[in-house]
Amino acid sequence: MLGAPGAGKGTQAQILEKRFDVWQISTGDLLRMHRHEGTPLGLQASEYMDRGELVPDSLIIAMVETALGGVEDFILDGFPRTVAQAQALDALLDRLGLPLDAVILFEATPEALFSRLTARWVNPRSGRSYNSITRPPLVAGVDDEDGGPLEQRIDDQPDTVRNRLAVYERQTTPLIEYYRETGKIVAIDALADVVSMTESIVDGIRSKVGSVL
Ligand code: AMP
Repeated sequence: MLGAPGAGKGTQAQILEKRFDVWQISTGDLLRMHRHEGTPLGLQASEYMDRGELVPDSLIIAMVETALGGVEDFILDGFPRTVAQAQALDALLDRLGLPLDAVILFEATPEALFSRLTARWVNPRSGRSYNSITRPPLVAGVDDEDGGPLEQRIDDQPDTVRNRLAVYERQTTPLIEYYRETGKIVAIDALADVVSMTESIVDGIRSKVGSVL
C-alpha cells in the first residue's frame, strides 16, 4: 500500500486482512509497539517518529525481514517508503520466491490530507478520540465526558504533519515511477468513502492477479 500519511492505508489494510485472511504488516504499528515496549529499536526510532522523519532504512529493512519470516500472503502498509526499501523488498521477495501481486496507490491532495491528519484530538486519560471535522467535542479542546483537556498526538500537530507530507513527497513519491514500469500499480481515490475504496482495491487486485481473492 503506497500513499501519503492520512490516506487511509491502515484502515484498508485492516479491512482486507479480515476479509481475505491475510497478514497485514504495518511498519508504523510495529515501530509504535517497539517504542511502547522500550526495545533498542523503539528507542532509536522514537526521535525520528516524533519529528515526522523516516526511520533509517537499515533499521526498517531488518524489522520487515523479521516480520515476514514464514508468512506467504501479506499486505504491506507503510513499507516500502524509499527506493532503497523497495529494492530491499524486491531482493527479499526473490529470496523467498514470492511474487509482488499489486501496488495499491492511494491518491489524494496534500491539502485534503493535512486537514484530515490535524483534525484528531485525544483524551490522554481515557484514550477517547475526537475529530474536529467529523466528530467534534461539544466544546473545542475539552472532553465531553470528564471535562478535561484534549491533546493532539505530537505527530498530528500541524508542523509535524507538514513535515510528514513533505517527507512523503520527497522520499516516497519516487516509488510511483519505480513501480509504474512493473505494471502493478492500482490507483484509487483516497478521498472516496471507505466501502468504495475497498471495492476499488479488490477489483484492482483481481485485475492484476486473476481469481486469487
Ligand atoms: P505511519 O503510522 O505509517 O505513518 O508511521 C509512523 C512513523 O513511523 C513515520 O512517520 C516514520 O517515522 C516511521 N515509519 C513507518 N514506516 C516507515 C518506513 N517504511 N520507513 C521509515 N520510517 C517509517
